[in-house]
Amino acid sequence: DGAIRFEDVRFGYDPEREILKGISFEVPPGHSVAIVGPSGAGKSTISRLLFRFYDVTAGRILVDGQNLADVAQESVRARVGIVPQDTVLFNDTIAYNIRYGRTDASDEEVRRAAELAQISDFIETLPLGFDTMVGERGLKLSGGEKQRVAIARTILKAPPILVLDEATSALDTHTEQEIQSALDLVSRNRTTLTIAHRLSTIVNANEIIVLKAGEIVERGDHRTLLELG
Ligand code: ADP
Ligand code: ADP
Repeated sequence: DGAIRFEDVRFGYDPEREILKGISFEVPPGHSVAIVGPSGAGKSTISRLLFRFYDVTAGRILVDGQNLADVAQESVRARVGIVPQDTVLFNDTIAYNIRYGRTDASDEEVRRAAELAQISDFIETLPLGFDTMVGERGLKLSGGEKQRVAIARTILKAPPILVLDEATSALDTHTEQEIQSALDLVSRNRTTLTIAHRLSTIVNANEIIVLKAGEIVERGDHRTLLELG
């Protein structure tokens, strides 16, 4: 379970400007592929297509052999867990936000996920920052804290496919290392697509893809890419 296959995928947010110019790659079940490349290359766009925020303009994306274009959005999203760069939280407690997507989870499971993501201290508080929100229990979360909420949510959801879009980029180095080990735990034996800017976060990737201006310009394992220089 959890096979991903991109077949000559083309996409643009508007028809005048193509962002992905024929992308093909495969992530076999349980494998890990990392996508690196300069800002604006189209890396996050790949993760958004996989989550079916948008549909491809040409080519196909297959998940477990099914063409995403033929699958209901909810069915795709049940199988894919994404830790985005910029997490938007619901106007409710952190615990509610962690439970989102797995409403059947027990309090104990939520607590455990929060612990792994290092946010157990404030799961009963509300995230501040919404126009409509006032209240003593409110807490202004930093970008890194919001990212940890998204990580806790993903730990709890434990989906067959994991998409980490610069999942630890907003964290300081010390927290990053600790959260990375929690992520390594969830991604073990799971199909994982990691979008990275720091090579240290992708040492376990089976394949690294270098994307530039919407095209794959290099691919290989760590060793091959180092030899290419
Ligand atoms: P990366 O993740 O590699 O930094 P993105 O996939 O975020 O790149 O963006 C690729 C290109 O698509 C950029 O030029 C960006 O400006 C453009 N882009 C991203 N999101 C949108 C959007 N919602 N509407 C229009 N253009 C977008
Ligand atoms: P529902 O249709 O039940 O509201 P969604 O399809 O919105 O559920 O979400 C299912 C899963 O996708 C959740 O676990 C959530 O973490 C994730 N998710 C939903 N929206 C986003 C988003 N904008 N960015 C990142 N992850 C999201």
